Amino acid sequence: MRGTVIYGARDVRFEERADPAIEAPTDAVVRVVAACVCGSDLWPYRGINEIGGPTPIGHEYVGVVEQVGSAVATIERGQFVIGSFYASDNTCPNCLAGYQTNCLHREPVAGAQAELLRVPLADGTLVATPGQPAPEMIPSLLTLSDVMGTGWFAAVAAQVRPGMTVLVVGDGAVGLLGVLSARQMGAARIIAMSRHEKRQTLAIEYGATDIVTERGDEGVARVRELTDGVGADAVLECVGTAESMQQAIKSARPGAHVGFVGVPHGVTIEGTQLFRSHVAVHGGPAPVRQYLPELIDLVWKGEINPGKVFDLTLPLEQVAEGYRAMDERRAIKTLLLP
Ligand SMILES: [Zn+2]
Repeated sequence: MRGTVIYGARDVRFEERADPAIEAPTDAVVRVVAACVCGSDLWPYRGINEIGGPTPIGHEYVGVVEQVGSAVATIERGQFVIGSFYASDNTCPNCLAGYQTNCLHREPVAGAQAELLRVPLADGTLVATPGQPAPEMIPSLLTLSDVMGTGWFAAVAAQVRPGMTVLVVGDGAVGLLGVLSARQMGAARIIAMSRHEKRQTLAIEYGATDIVTERGDEGVARVRELTDGVGADAVLECVGTAESMQQAIKSARPGAHVGFVGVPHGVTIEGTQLFRSHVAVHGGPAPVRQYLPELIDLVWKGEINPGKVFDLTLPLEQVAEGYRAMDERRAIKTLLLP
């Protein structure tokens, strides 16, 4: 089969690799129908995360089950499935508590920007759709593998409730789907921070009521101005930089929760600041497995269309261009079709 391998900074290659096989009786092998490039793939791509050597990359996928191991009981050949970027057993105490990305037996899923993918712990990790989806539904289903589930978790962690004023920091695909999630959870007002016209338009389509283009202290001042000097009731931090985290905490009203899902790079939270702010901070790698059944249902019924974040679709062999377009912010998110 052919798959994507990252060799170093800005060096992504599509090449011939060995077909994945069943290694453990709980594995499945999935023929990938669609994959994509994640914002977090850009950290190694930009050389910010070290790469030890040529590494298969990609962790967002939908596909059709091709093979299952002898211990797989619920997932079957031929099913259209979606899974998370971490494999989980979905039975351990952490899974039962709703934190499948902290499963006691978790394994990262890597190498999804490929024609075939091995998924460990198939029964716990994969969720089958009610049937074979129509082609136009596939982009939205693909987002449930990570980006939509991550935006959703940001809103859950921020404890968004009906009627709230919600701030979303970050206008990448996760931030935009954070806007969609907040609206779905009943937010009355959604303030999106964005300087990018195309992203502002999609944010508004997904439910943003206000756009803030200022950043740093000016951004905080603008959010306070929009919230009677108090700050937002709930804040979604969807970037992962020191600046965005400060933006999030300083824009939250006392008692608010900040849900943070941007992978932190250089983020520190100072104890005294947090103590004085009365703000709660909760986040981490989103337990998207928990939300898959509910979100599949919403997509299946046509109630949400998160697939609109894909503004570039390429054949998988042009994956390198997909990375370049996102790196240069020409594309919000690249969909890849094997
Ligand atoms: Zn578990």
